[in-house]
Formats: sequence, C-alpha cells, structure tokens
Amino acid sequence: ETATPWHYTDAAAVAGALPPRPKFSHKGTFGHALLLAGSRGKMGAAVLAAGACLRGGVGLLTAHVPGCGYDIFQISQPEAMCLPDPQVAYLSKLPKLDAYQAVGIGPGLGQAEATYTVLRKLLKNAAKSTEKRPTPLPLVIDADALNLLGSHRALLKLLPENTILTPHPKEFERLTEPARDDYHRLELLRDFATAHRCLVVLKGAYTCLATPTGELHFNSTGNAGMATGGSGDVLTGVLLALRAHAQLPAFEAVRLSVYAHGRAGDLAAVHTGQAGLVAGDIVRHIGPALAEVQ
Ligand code: AMP
Ligand code: MG
Repeated sequence: ETATPWHYTDAAAVAGALPPRPKFSHKGTFGHALLLAGSRGKMGAAVLAAGACLRGGVGLLTAHVPGCGYDIFQISQPEAMCLPDPQVAYLSKLPKLDAYQAVGIGPGLGQAEATYTVLRKLLKNAAKSTEKRPTPLPLVIDADALNLLGSHRALLKLLPENTILTPHPKEFERLTEPARDDYHRLELLRDFATAHRCLVVLKGAYTCLATPTGELHFNSTGNAGMATGGSGDVLTGVLLALRAHAQLPAFEAVRLSVYAHGRAGDLAAVHTGQAGLVAGDIVRHIGPALAEVQ
C-alpha cells in the first residue's frame, strides 16, 4: 500500500485562491445556491448557514424551509429568497433543481421520515446529467442530512462524485464505525472518501479534508472559541457559496472554505475573545477572511 500524502493548508497554500470579482460581473456570475435547512426549534441553523452563504459571495440564495420557518427566515435574511414547505415543522418536498448551481442540505434539518425522502430524491436528481449540466449538481451535506445517511447507508451509493460531506467526529462515526484512536479515524476517513469519491471534511481543531484520491489536508486556522453551537452551520454556508462559484474546482472550493471559516473565527475572536465568540460573529468576519485570499 502506498503512503497517504499529507498536506497542510496554511496562508501560502490558499494565497490568491479566490478569483477577483470582474468589473462587469452581475449576480448571475456567482451562482444561485439552494439551501435545504431548518425544522421547528432549529431555524437558527438555517439562518446562520444562509448568512454565511451570502457573506461567502454567492450571487443569489434561495432557502427551502419548513412552513414554521418562513417568517423567521425572511425577516432574518432579507437578501435571500425563501420557499416554504407545505409541512409546518420539517421538510417534506424537494423543490425543482434546474435553477441552481449548488445545493446544501442539513443544518437544523431534523430526521423526519419525510425529510429522508427529500434527501434520497436530492441525491438521485443531482446525479442525473442534463443538457445544461453534464456533470453532477454540486452538493454539500451536513448535520442531520449526514445522520440520515448514517441511518440509511444504502443512500451512500447514490452520492454523486465530488459531493462534500462535513461530519464532526460523532457524525463521521455514524457514517462508518467507532474509531480505535485518532489515527484509525484518519484511515477510516481516507477510505470513506476514496470509496465514495467524495470530499469529506472531518471537523475539529485541525479539520482534515480527505479527497477522492486519498489525500489528507489539515487546516491551520480556527480556535477553541468556535466550539459553540452553529459554527458548523456557518461552514456549510461558506462551502455552498464557493461550490456555486463557477471558477472554483471542487477541491479548491472546499480547501478555501475550510481555511476562510477558521480565519473568520480567528478574526472574530480578536473582538469577542474565545469565550464570547458566537457563530454569528464568524459570519460577520467571512468577508474580511475571504478578502485576504483574493
Ligand atoms: P459543528 O460541530 O458542526 O458545529 O462544527 C464545529 C465547527 O467549529 C467546525 O468547523 C470545527 O472545525 C470548528 N471547531 C470546533 N471546535 C474547534 C476548536 N477547538 N478549534 C478550532 N475549530 C473548532
Ligand atoms: Mg454541525
């Protein structure tokens, strides 16, 4: 067996990674993203992910949320559009996907049976190639969407190539098996990413990105202040924005998102301290973090 190449994502690795916005660009230039998120009691996750996606530079964002989240979402994110699901408390329907360049699913989603059906349809429809879109629709899968994958593992074979999964260690365990130690977890991570031809972001203090070819990229940014509810939802939003960006290949989009998310947390902590940092502070520093790598 060949050794796994290890890499470290520092400032030099991502220098100049974000293409400058062309003078004559318009909102169509930076993609239209779709976010499937929220359930009763967890609308904050949808709001945070949407805020991060907007700050990540997406051209347009539409969120599909349960009926109870419609007013909450529209009032919290006036820059985004919103589609209400016919179900009040959780998602039960998949919207038409034709208009979107990337789809994110998971933050605050809950694990209702009807929502599992939405995820399955999303995986099937994203994999289908159309005349306008010869390659699979880029997907970002997080949080309860990962937990649904873990409890319905037959879905794993439907994952389109280059799908992004963002588990924390507990979510990763549900997708695979309990790890004996941190090294074993990295082996499981590499094997999962190569087997399913996905980009897997194992989140933690040194978040590790595994690629479909089995490379492992350790992130250098971020701080313990980010160990707070909603931090991961913010990462999903940044990933969704950069995956909808036409000029960024999948790997570049993920490496840059993970780096910029951690950097935004570091910039935020200068003002809040680590104890005082909340996920919304990360959202507010995504712009400055991305400006550093443009
Ligand atoms: P989640 O558990 O889904 O909310 O995701 C937490 C996010 O915060 C991930 O992006 C982690 O990498 C980040 N995070 C959590 N704890 C730390 C830490 N101690 N140091 C750096 N980043 C962290
Ligand atoms: Mg999370």
